[in-house]
Amino acid sequence: MRQPEGQASITAIERHRHTQHSRAFNDYSSSLLPSTLPVSSRLHFLLAVVVTSLVFSGATTALRVDAAEWPDEYRAGPFVCHADFALAEHRNLLNALPRLQRDLVTQVGIVASQEPIHLFLFHRKSTYQAYLKQYFPDVPSRKALFIKGRGPGMVFAYRGEDFETDVRHECTHALLNAALPMVPLWLDEGLAEYFEVPAAQRANANPHLKYVRFNALLVQVPKLESLEQLSGLSEMNRTKYRHAWAWIHFMLHGPPEAREELSRYLADIRALTPPGKLSRRLRHRMPNLERRFAEHFKQWNSSGFPSL
Ligand SMILES: [Zn+2]
Repeated sequence: MRQPEGQASITAIERHRHTQHSRAFNDYSSSLLPSTLPVSSRLHFLLAVVVTSLVFSGATTALRVDAAEWPDEYRAGPFVCHADFALAEHRNLLNALPRLQRDLVTQVGIVASQEPIHLFLFHRKSTYQAYLKQYFPDVPSRKALFIKGRGPGMVFAYRGEDFETDVRHECTHALLNAALPMVPLWLDEGLAEYFEVPAAQRANANPHLKYVRFNALLVQVPKLESLEQLSGLSEMNRTKYRHAWAWIHFMLHGPPEAREELSRYLADIRALTPPGKLSRRLRHRMPNLERRFAEHFKQWNSSGFPSL
């Protein structure tokens, strides 16, 4: 959640894969600003960038980052990538990130923010963990992180097993939270789950799909109202992430009125108009919501197109 002027708290959204989630709203205003700079540490270049970002984040939307401080850097659309390893191997991933923003605009209906998003990418898990422990000591240990204060969002990840998935997931959070003043937890995570796979796999090759389809055949429909009551990532588990993903899939690929209502709901949030519950709005458009949900997944065949 973007914080109002005068407060220096930071929202941290933790990557969850194989771990329990939690979402932290903490005041890092003092703990993020070390009193001394390590001059001999291997984290020297990392520290320089983060201190700069925090100092200037409240004063300007342009984050001043010294390119010389990082071994490799790359810019792709709004994403400014800083890495402690050569990024050439991941150019395809990074070059696809601007399309992620375009797809959020065209498919979900957000209005793209112009603010930059900084990616801090690490070769080793140990370096990533040491960095976060030093500068974000109150954030629980997670595979990857999205952190946003008053300034541009920051994504942190290391080259682990799910590196590219993690980056797309966290960058989805970053794009949503740059474009909107707030994003409901379940919706934020459902969209991140949807967009974390490569674009060609989103509609019909997400690992969640077979479970959701199986349950739909049994007419087991996840309760949207239950998702809307979730207030912290610690309440989420893998099943809840799957349920959130399923409702996103239904809205993006199901009845046109569902996607239209999602876009209207997000437009209300952007305009600071109290949006109410999305479940209520969807039920107003589709009184037989659960049946439409089940039908959507029953008809969604393996080729990714509804079977008629
Ligand atoms: Zn997430």
